[in-house]
Amino acid sequence: SGKWGRAMAILKEFEEKCGTPDGKLRQVADAMDVEMHAGLASEGGSKLKMLISYVDNLPSGDEAGLFYALDLGGTNFRVLRVHLGGKEKGVVNQEFEEVSIPPHLMVGSSEGFNIEDVVGEDVVGELTKSMQKIGLDMRVSALVNDTIGTLAGGRFYNQDVIAAVILGTGTNAAYVERANAIPKWHGPLPKSGDMVINMEWGNFRSSHLPLTEYDIALDTESLNPGEQIFEKLISGMYLGDIVRRALLKMAEEADFFGDTVPPKLKVPFILRTPDMSAMHHDTTPDLKVVGNKLKDILEISNTSLKMRKTVVELCDIVATRGARLAAAGILGILKKTGRDTVKAGEKQQKTVIALDGGLYEHYTKFRACLESTLNELLEEEVAKSIVIEHSNDGSGIGAALLAASHSQYL
Ligand code: ADP
Ligand code: MG
Repeated sequence: SGKWGRAMAILKEFEEKCGTPDGKLRQVADAMDVEMHAGLASEGGSKLKMLISYVDNLPSGDEAGLFYALDLGGTNFRVLRVHLGGKEKGVVNQEFEEVSIPPHLMVGSSEGFNIEDVVGEDVVGELTKSMQKIGLDMRVSALVNDTIGTLAGGRFYNQDVIAAVILGTGTNAAYVERANAIPKWHGPLPKSGDMVINMEWGNFRSSHLPLTEYDIALDTESLNPGEQIFEKLISGMYLGDIVRRALLKMAEEADFFGDTVPPKLKVPFILRTPDMSAMHHDTTPDLKVVGNKLKDILEISNTSLKMRKTVVELCDIVATRGARLAAAGILGILKKTGRDTVKAGEKQQKTVIALDGGLYEHYTKFRACLESTLNELLEEEVAKSIVIEHSNDGSGIGAALLAASHSQYL
């Protein structure tokens, strides 16, 4: 009918606007490279903060002892205890306790998460004081974010790891930079010559990013409009809601679900990325999983097979765009570190990128698309030298490992 045609037209337009042909991804990668330079040149020089982490030594794999780490993620707070046994024994034992963070704590200042007013304050000093107050005889030797933790965790197992990317509730990346290539660093050059940079890449933005009306509305209605634009296209916090917004438009303007708009479809963030992922991976011939999710979450029953197929297509459009943009971001890091081309007359060095986070770990199609896109963007010879490695639980272990490598000098 005419209505179905209108719904398909909305779908087609969305698909076109979300398009990420290789040429566009190369522009995104180039822009990432440019912004990385700008962020390293001066404080506030770019949307990319390119934070100097003060981590100038990554684990060698020789570390041994008992170490604790606190891991503050987007959704969970974890306390880890890691027993390291050096090169021979590796991680001897690892235990953790996990509590989920109540949603009302996820916004705001230092009492929650966007810890603006703590930046530059002596966090380690405060934490040490608090521990003494309750009689804990422990020393805080490193405070690292999860991206740097993942980089360090990856390096413990594989010395070819040069960068880490987190794809979870949010997204971020960290990599190893040459200290003398950081104009805004005025301190003494570290002995290693290296400095780990926390890119805060979720805040990247560029005119080359394929933004649709749904992304713009999501951003405008968000708690941080104008910020974290790259993250809003890629990470687990948002993907499900982009799908919901496109579906809502189809319901409102093309009666996709009948004469009335299902009220639940208007509830922000009601469709979570894990549910989107479950629908996207539905292999039953009648798309039973999609049908059940629509019924259970959105209270839409009696959906036809072609409606369900359309929902799967929406999931595919949104996940594919996110995964391909994440791959373009990684290409940007490879460009900045000069690992995106074959150097004449040199043996190609191996490059490993450590990836972690719930989105990467569980959203199989997202992960597969990211990996194939990166391959597609690189020359064959280079592609062979670059490996994406899942750094399972790298962040907690990595934080403990950094504590270990630091304590050698303290
Ligand atoms: P955090 O980012 O909070 O530190 P994780 O790395 O574990 O935590 O990532 C959790 C995020 O991963 C969730 O918010 C969700 O968006 C995403 N996620 C979890 N499970 C799945 C899944 N099955 N499919 C797709 N995404 C998932
Ligand atoms: Mg995490």
